[in-house]
Amino acid sequence: MSQKTLFQRIADGEIPGDFVHQDERCFAIRDINPQSPTHILIIPRKPIASNDHVEGEDADLIGHLFLVAKSLAASESLVNGYRLVFNCGSDGGQEVPHLHLHLLGGRKMAWPPG
Ligand code: 5GP
Repeated sequence: MSQKTLFQRIADGEIPGDFVHQDERCFAIRDINPQSPTHILIIPRKPIASNDHVEGEDADLIGHLFLVAKSLAASESLVNGYRLVFNCGSDGGQEVPHLHLHLLGGRKMAWPPG
């Protein structure tokens, strides 16, 4: 049985992914079940399980995810704004135990979220 997370398997080409960004620290793919016209997952190559598993040494990496999100929002022409989401744990709606930042845009978002 593979010890890799789903997103590691996508990064390694074992499962297809629609890549929109790749660098040495993270990659970004379009969500397979998009919740908005643009729905991209920005994923650190390091398989941090969730926000509860982020350590101080990861601070620069987490900041990098936000900078990639800003760049992708520009390349996706999300000129009216967008939403960034980290789901954490079962109450947070996290399904994949490998930290990932959702970039959602292309429509008006509701608040409070569901
Ligand atoms: P979470 O609920 O863990 O915050 O988000 C997991 C996201 O991964 C969901 O939005 C889900 O649609 C997406 N997802 C699950 N499996 C796959 C897959 O195989 N490929 C891609 N591109 N996205 C996936």
